[in-house]
Amino acid sequence: MGYRSLLVPAVAALAAGACSAPIHRPVSVGPLDPPTAIVDATLWDGTGRAPVPHAVTLVRGNRILCAGGVGECQIPRDARVIDAHGAWLIPGLIDSHVHLLFLLRGSASEDLANDLKDLLAQGVTTVRDMGTNPVELLARTRALGAAPRVYAMQLVAGFRFFYGREQVVTTDGSVAYRLPQAQIMEMRGWTPMMFTRDDDADSLAAEAKKTGAIGLKLYGYLDSTLVRKLTEAAHRAGMTAWGHAWVQPANPRDQVLAGEDGVVHASLFVGDLFSATGRDSLLASSAILWAGAHDATPESGLDPRIGETLDSMARRGTFLEPTLDVTIRSVAHYDAQHADQPSLPEQYARAAVGFSMAVTRQAAKRGVRLTAGTDHVAYGPVRDRASLASELRLLVDSIGLSPEAALLAATRDAAVAIGGEAARSVGTIEAGRYADLLLLDRSPLDDIRNLDGIQWVMQDGRLWRPWQLRSGIAMHEGAADSTWADPDADEPALAHPGAR
Ligand SMILES: [Zn+2]
Repeated sequence: MGYRSLLVPAVAALAAGACSAPIHRPVSVGPLDPPTAIVDATLWDGTGRAPVPHAVTLVRGNRILCAGGVGECQIPRDARVIDAHGAWLIPGLIDSHVHLLFLLRGSASEDLANDLKDLLAQGVTTVRDMGTNPVELLARTRALGAAPRVYAMQLVAGFRFFYGREQVVTTDGSVAYRLPQAQIMEMRGWTPMMFTRDDDADSLAAEAKKTGAIGLKLYGYLDSTLVRKLTEAAHRAGMTAWGHAWVQPANPRDQVLAGEDGVVHASLFVGDLFSATGRDSLLASSAILWAGAHDATPESGLDPRIGETLDSMARRGTFLEPTLDVTIRSVAHYDAQHADQPSLPEQYARAAVGFSMAVTRQAAKRGVRLTAGTDHVAYGPVRDRASLASELRLLVDSIGLSPEAALLAATRDAAVAIGGEAARSVGTIEAGRYADLLLLDRSPLDDIRNLDGIQWVMQDGRLWRPWQLRSGIAMHEGAADSTWADPDADEPALAHPGAR
C-alpha cells in the first residue's frame, strides 16, 4: 500500500461533502489504515508538559493516536515513518479572531481560498471567524481543500446599529445622513442579528445556532441588561458569548459581570474610564473613537478602574483577546498616507497602541487568561492584515510573556477560548485530538521568531509544505496528493514500515 492512502480518507470525506457546521470531517479511519509515526522530534505538546526529546507521535487518519517519549508510544510495524530528527513538533496554531468573508462586487471566493492557504502556510490550522456570515462562510470553506478548520460566531447588535441614521454636515455645508452601521456590514455580505428589549434572547440564540455559529459576538448598542440576557441565553444554548469590549453603553466591566466568556480589543477598555451617565451621552457611532482618541494613553491604561475589571476577569476566568498587531498595522497604514489633518480613526489608532499595551501588560500581571486572536481579515492589502506570528512576537517583546506563554495563547488556551468541540479536539497534541501539527526547524521556546521556520504543516491529518501552499499547487482538487507524490518535492523523509 502506497503512502498516498494516508490522504484518501480526508479527500473522500470532502468529496462527499460529509460535513456539518463547523467544518467537521468524520473520523474516517478504517482498521486497515496504517498509522504515520513522526519520530525523533522534540515534542512540545501544548498541555503544559515539558518538551519531550526524541518523541514519537502517531497519527492515523485525521487523529492523533499517541504522543510522547519512545517508551510511551510504540511504533506499529506497519507505520509509515517520518524522520523529524532535530526538529520541533508543536500543535497547529489557532487564530481565535479573524473575519474571512467579504462579498464585495459579487464574490470573494478567490480571495478567501488564497487567504486560507496563506494562513495554513503560516501554521494556522484553526480559526474562529468573529462574525461575518456563518452560513455562507462555512459552506465556502467546506468546499476548499487547503484551509484551516473554521468556527464561526454570529454578530449581534442593538437597535441603533440597524436604524440609527446620523446626520453629518458635508464640506459644502449641506446636511447628509450616514448609513446605519448594519447596512454597511450587509453591503459586505455580513449578517448581523438585531436584539432589543422586546426580543427573546433564547429565540435569537436558537436562530444563531441554526446558522452553524458556535457563539454570539456582541458588537454594539447593547446595555448591560441586554448583554446579560444574550450571554445567559447563549450559555443555555451551549454557545459562547464574547463581546467587542465596549458595546456602548455596556463597557468592559458590565460585560465581564454579565458573564461573557471573553472580551476582545484591549483598546476598548477605555470604556471603563466613563461613568454610566457619561456613556449614555455618547450616542454617535464615532463616540467611541472620540473617547479613545482623547482618553486612551499609556498612563490611563493603568487606571485602577481598569485594574478592577481585569482582576474580576482573572477571578472568573474571562478571556482577554488584546489584538495588538492590528492596531500597530493601522498606525503603519496611516503613516504611509501622510495625511495633513489626522482623521478621527487615525487619532484613535495612534492613541490605542500605548493604551492597549498598558492594559494587556496589566492583564498578564493580574493573571487574566489571554488568547492570541488577531482580527485578521481576508481582504485588502496583505500588509494591512494582522498576523498571528506578529501578535505572538508582540506578546513576548512588548507584553513580557515567555515564548511558551505566548504559544499557549495560540494553542491550548485559544482552543479553550473558542470552546465547545474546539476545546476538546484542537490546541494540544494528545491522543484523540485532530492531527493538526507543525514541524519547526528550531525551538519556538528559545525564540518565538522560530515560528517562521516551518518545515511542514499537518492539518486534519494532511501534510502540506508552506511553499506548495503559496505556489498555488494546492489550489487544485487532489493537490494534497501531489504534495506527497511529486518526486521533485522536498518530501519529509519517508522510510519503509518499521524503519527509523
Ligand atoms: Zn474583529
